Amino acid sequence: MDLRGLLPLVIGLNIAAVAVFYSRFAETDLAAQVKTQIETVLESFINPNSINSKSVSCGLIPVPEYILLSSRVVLPNGIQPAAIHISGGKIIKVSSSTAMHGPEVIDFKDSVIMPGVIDVHAHLNEPGREDWEGLTTGTAAAAAGGVTTLVDMPLNSFPVTTVRSRLEEKQMLAEKKSLVNVAHWAGLTPDNAADHQVLADLVAAGALGFKSFMSPSGIDDFPNVGAADIAAALPFLKSAGVPYFVHAEFVTEVPLSEGLPTSYETYLSSRPPKFEQDAIELLIKLLDEDNTTAAPGFVLHIAHLSDSGCLPLIKAAVDRGLPVSVETCAHYLSFSSHHIADGQTLFKCAPPIRDEPNRKALLSAVLDGRISVVTSDHSPAPPSLKQLDTGDFIKAWGGISGLQYLLPATWTALKAEGG
Ligand SMILES: [Zn+2]
Repeated sequence: MDLRGLLPLVIGLNIAAVAVFYSRFAETDLAAQVKTQIETVLESFINPNSINSKSVSCGLIPVPEYILLSSRVVLPNGIQPAAIHISGGKIIKVSSSTAMHGPEVIDFKDSVIMPGVIDVHAHLNEPGREDWEGLTTGTAAAAAGGVTTLVDMPLNSFPVTTVRSRLEEKQMLAEKKSLVNVAHWAGLTPDNAADHQVLADLVAAGALGFKSFMSPSGIDDFPNVGAADIAAALPFLKSAGVPYFVHAEFVTEVPLSEGLPTSYETYLSSRPPKFEQDAIELLIKLLDEDNTTAAPGFVLHIAHLSDSGCLPLIKAAVDRGLPVSVETCAHYLSFSSHHIADGQTLFKCAPPIRDEPNRKALLSAVLDGRISVVTSDHSPAPPSLKQLDTGDFIKAWGGISGLQYLLPATWTALKAEGG
């Protein structure tokens, strides 16, 4: 499957994997068999030596044909009661009649059944920073949250993913250790921005596209790009037809706040909306100045938008036919600055979570399609780096660990807005 074509989708159909949440199994023979399979798989996690390849199949349901029932199945025409007929690992039919019983029918009652979620923005940190988090726990969190495919960022692994050999190492690890489908973005930094052969090698090896920072990334070996680097890379990115993710904050000096470092307001005032607006204006200007014909698949993708004030800028660019897309994250849709108590550095991310009117504006942009992607931007770090003991927002690592909650948090926030 070519994942590049799926970028605009928050939730995509992953035929082999149907995510089932808050499961309540019916009392059937099949449910008992599934329970045994789950226990076998769990045992294999607790005691890897117990794995018997003959007894653990890749799916948890031990028969080739079965039917899943729910009063809330997410379908293209809405959420409704349905029966999903599965054969050989594939959905062969979805019917509206749910009046059926039998040993191969599993009734999930009013639990939701939907396609697996695709999260195109997560930091899994392996290799090199498994003490921050690695593939095993990161992809387990994804599976627990209904994410069946995720795309890993080129940092904060060590080394970063800016050359082909590093990408291949990541691919091998993912193949061995991941519990869900994992694909990769490559890094675009001042070191490789003008070296189109290095970029082409990364695409040939399977990178879905590239990611850059316009502000310091927090990782010394992943420096941010400047306008000249972006201008040098654009002809390749457009010709290759690959997405270009950008952390769009253009950091300039702001007057130092006299507030306490444990106050969220102190951190918030250090990263004003102007940083996002300046970066997006510059990106649009660079797109305007580049005359390369964009192959299908190229899009300049603004990662994790926090400032809703940028939406008119982005819409104007899209209306002019520029290939621009934008994402926001579950935490920007779920929290606003007044939720964040002093010292609660778990909420620190960049760009920062802003005020309640901003949150509402982001929600309405997701609902009307101006924002087409919602991601987790899952970015774990050890407790010491989050400064949990001091509550110092200025020193704390900027990143929120929320992969497992991407779907429920987004669902809850949008539903509260009438979505
Ligand atoms: Zn990120």
